[in-house]
Amino acid sequence: MPEYHFLLIQNNQETAEEEIFQKIQEMAVPTYKMYAITLNNENTTYVSTREEAEETINKMKEEQANQLEEIEIGMQEIYTQDRENIQSTVEVASAINETEVKLTEIVEEQTKRKLATLDGVYFEVKPVSGTITSRFGANESIRDHTHKGMDIAAPAGTPIKVAADGEVTYAGWMGGYGNLVIVSHGNGIQTYYGHCSKLYVSKGETVSAGDTIGAVGTTGYSTGNHLHFEIRKNGSQINPQKYLYK
Ligand SMILES: [Zn+2]
Repeated sequence: MPEYHFLLIQNNQETAEEEIFQKIQEMAVPTYKMYAITLNNENTTYVSTREEAEETINKMKEEQANQLEEIEIGMQEIYTQDRENIQSTVEVASAINETEVKLTEIVEEQTKRKLATLDGVYFEVKPVSGTITSRFGANESIRDHTHKGMDIAAPAGTPIKVAADGEVTYAGWMGGYGNLVIVSHGNGIQTYYGHCSKLYVSKGETVSAGDTIGAVGTTGYSTGNHLHFEIRKNGSQINPQKYLYK
């Protein structure tokens, strides 16, 4: 909207209508209105009118009732001075298609997340990619008890990434583990990363899922380069493959 000011000039002053009109034209910036369809408050697609936005949302609610149980669909009025933005609007049928595709993506992501969550801790990142050489609960000749973690073979020096956000509560030598990093994730959940050749973090450090905390090695009680990975709940090891490397 242009801004208007009323100015008192002179009682007997004649106004030049033509000039005023021309000035307004010069200074006016055309502004266009369009509507975004939103899923969980993120824009997914754009339509030209409120009616089209409502139609899209109503159709989605009819056809995708199940999927929309935990995801909020809505619209947002958008003002733009860029004509190209307006040209990115689509017809209702395409808007529905695009919103459906995005909805499926969000639902899949949420499902994945649910499956990888333990007491509110989200195991987002595989610490290393490589061959699983020993699983949780395996009996092997090298040990006189069952395996309480999982082993992933990888070349020496391969970066080890932390599986979930947390705080380093141990980084150093610990018996058969060799060089070990322990990360606490809250709610009594911890992860262990054993046999490291190098440690890149120290106790007290805050880490985010995906941060490199060490390098694969064969320190401690180990017969080759691999990561020994554990998930513990209140001190007891649980099967990591319930959450990662499924
Ligand atoms: Zn192991």
